[in-house]
Amino acid sequence: MLAIEIKDLTKDYKVGFWKKKPRRALDGLSLSVEAGETFGLLGPNGAGKSTTLKILFRLIFPTTGVARILGENIQDRSTHARLGFLPENPSFYDHLTAEEFMMFASDLFGIPARQARRQTGELLDRVGLAGTGGLRIRKFSKGMVQRLGIAQALINDPDLIFLDEPMSGLDPIGRRDIRNLILELRKEGKTVFFSTHILSDAETLCDRVAILDRGRLLGCGELEQILAMKVRTVEIVIEGPSAQTLGELRPYARAMVRTGNQLRIESDEKDATVVLGTVLACGARVRSFNPVKSSLEDYFMAQVSAPEEDPAENAAQPPLRKRAARSGR
Ligand code: ADP
Repeated sequence: MLAIEIKDLTKDYKVGFWKKKPRRALDGLSLSVEAGETFGLLGPNGAGKSTTLKILFRLIFPTTGVARILGENIQDRSTHARLGFLPENPSFYDHLTAEEFMMFASDLFGIPARQARRQTGELLDRVGLAGTGGLRIRKFSKGMVQRLGIAQALINDPDLIFLDEPMSGLDPIGRRDIRNLILELRKEGKTVFFSTHILSDAETLCDRVAILDRGRLLGCGELEQILAMKVRTVEIVIEGPSAQTLGELRPYARAMVRTGNQLRIESDEKDATVVLGTVLACGARVRSFNPVKSSLEDYFMAQVSAPEEDPAENAAQPPLRKRAARSGR
């Protein structure tokens, strides 16, 4: 079953003071997310990630296009009882304590007080805020507010959880905790749809990712599939090569770097066996042989073009899609 289905979603914001002009933030986005998947929406700042999440959550309206959540059109707010949402840079009533805020959030879902109190304790513990329940939110650090935001997103035991930049403002320990929490949610069978610009988080957490840039989808699929698109190379480190060996290896090496007695050779996967054969035949010693796995970062950097220098200058124009135009999208 599809948890999220997005078809041809476009959003134009009206910008300018006197003469309002449309600025395209999303441009014909289509994608779907299976129930139970952990799905990452990736993209640089301004790519349209928050806009997508806000449309799905009905906080803003699309210019054109349709979307369905848990099988229902997004206009049907009855599904909201089954959703959790962490907005980007959450800001809560800061005169409340974390416990009071969680009870308030529970009340919005009509959760009985006793159950709400129990869940509040469990969730504050789960996000690493145990013992801070009595502290006013205004005394929270940014990371603590973020953790509280995640706790409130789970108060109704949602089936589908939207997290907009969940690692934002967290220190390395906080990021690890939240990564583990997302992995737990996946084990529980929840669907998690989160946006991030931190690629290593996506790489450790996501079943599938979509890459957005300036409102358009540049790629979508399983990480393995996406990463396999990149040509892989092999790194071979050898010891004591003669000048003749170096000469024989040169045609097959993409790069050769000598450090002391060692030589690091980078070659295409298809040439690696020739390199290895040559090295062994010349009597040099092989220290290591490693396929170089392309990372999501390599793929991302290859797909996403450089950011516009002054977004204000481009306010009247639809986003420039140099790369997309080249690839015929
Ligand atoms: P992301 O979450 O990927 O950083 P956003 O969805 O916040 O991107 O923004 C996408 C584009 O839409 C950006 O160019 C941003 O400046 C613009 N934008 C976002 N919100 C508004 C708004 N309320 N009014 C005008 N432009 C907006």
